Amino acid sequence: MYDAIIVGGGPTGATVGKILAEKGFSVLIVERCKLPRYKSCSGMVIKKTIELIDKYFYCQIPDFVKCSPLDNYGMVFVNDEGKEYKFEQRGFNVWRSSFDNWLLEKAIEKGAKVIDCASVVSCEDKDDCVEVTISGKTSSTEKARYLIDCEGATGTLKRSLFSNDKDYITTYQTFNNGRIDLDPHYFYAYLQPKFSEYDAWFNVKDNMLVLGVAVKDRNKIKAYYTNFIDYMKSNHGLVLQDKIKEEKWIMPCIYPDFKINYGKGRILLAGEVAGFLNPMGEGISCGIESGYHAAIAIADNFGNSENVLHCYIQNSREVLAYMKRQWHLVGLMSNKFENMKNM
Ligand SMILES: Cc1cc2nc3c(=O)[nH]c(=O)nc-3n(C[C@H](O)[C@H](O)[C@H](O)COP(=O)(O)OP(=O)(O)OC[C@H]3O[C@@H](n4cnc5c(N)ncnc54)[C@H](O)[C@@H]3O)c2cc1C
Repeated sequence: MYDAIIVGGGPTGATVGKILAEKGFSVLIVERCKLPRYKSCSGMVIKKTIELIDKYFYCQIPDFVKCSPLDNYGMVFVNDEGKEYKFEQRGFNVWRSSFDNWLLEKAIEKGAKVIDCASVVSCEDKDDCVEVTISGKTSSTEKARYLIDCEGATGTLKRSLFSNDKDYITTYQTFNNGRIDLDPHYFYAYLQPKFSEYDAWFNVKDNMLVLGVAVKDRNKIKAYYTNFIDYMKSNHGLVLQDKIKEEKWIMPCIYPDFKINYGKGRILLAGEVAGFLNPMGEGISCGIESGYHAAIAIADNFGNSENVLHCYIQNSREVLAYMKRQWHLVGLMSNKFENMKNM
């Protein structure tokens, strides 16, 4: 019997695992992919994330998880009408595989057990524990007092537990050799409707030009992406030499009456799978923060599962309020996201 089984070894799962293990609880983290696992991401670590890592992990982000340019100076939003808003804020540019693995090692150092190449395929709340079926490199049925689902947007466990969860945005991004006349230290988000049904973006990672679009309808990826590339060629001197790779992923679709799913009984949801996601897909900070609150709720109320969920929801109020303030700001900048002013 574990005290906690955590589904997923991303930033959320690593935070839950580190905090609980540090407090003396027995923890198993189950990760579907081989570690270090790849995650499609822009890899922008914002100032808030740096502060959270300092606060919860008591350390600074090492250079070996970063890519060039190492420093991110902030974000440039271009709204529906092409008006630019620049937000200066110091952050870092990381490769998620190295960054997430580094966080996971912090959980292991505190005593969490991690298995990779294995998925949690089902779980059942049995009143005094959760029965968890694991399948893959290691296949077994385990028991834990609590299960914390941190499987990110792609996870299937949540969908098996809560069947109404179907609202996703698809992201498509390419990594290219080439050149452009934009400052590589910024992350650029373009909100013009002809480039995406959400946002289009540009950033630089280890000299590769990353260009992406996000859509609700996957059939529209090619058309939006072509419009975006044409715009970047005419407005920013983009010259594409060769495409190194392309990738698709999904993100939760957030809308004004969106509700965070905190879980039920002994099963908690944290991070992106619960719906914590800031505008333009910034999700590492709220993953770490919600993971921390889930862990503290368990640690403080271990013997009383009814209090755990209540405490988790209460403790997460500020993460949610921050998320809503960010969406509100985007709603003020852009007609496309105007309804998010009411979030
Ligand atoms: C294109 C793109 C760009 C982004 N850019 C940024 C950015 O620049 N900055 C930022 O902060 N955020 C960004 N995000 C969002 C960010 O990646 C996520 O919000 C963040 O990774 C969420 O962390 P998590 O730990 O909740 O989930 P994840 O990082 O997705 O981790 C979940 C883990 O669970 C594993 N898993 C899934 N199902 C199972 C299962 N059944 N059993 C076992 N393991 C399982 C997965 O393999 C995965 O490793 C971006 C997202 C996308 C798609």
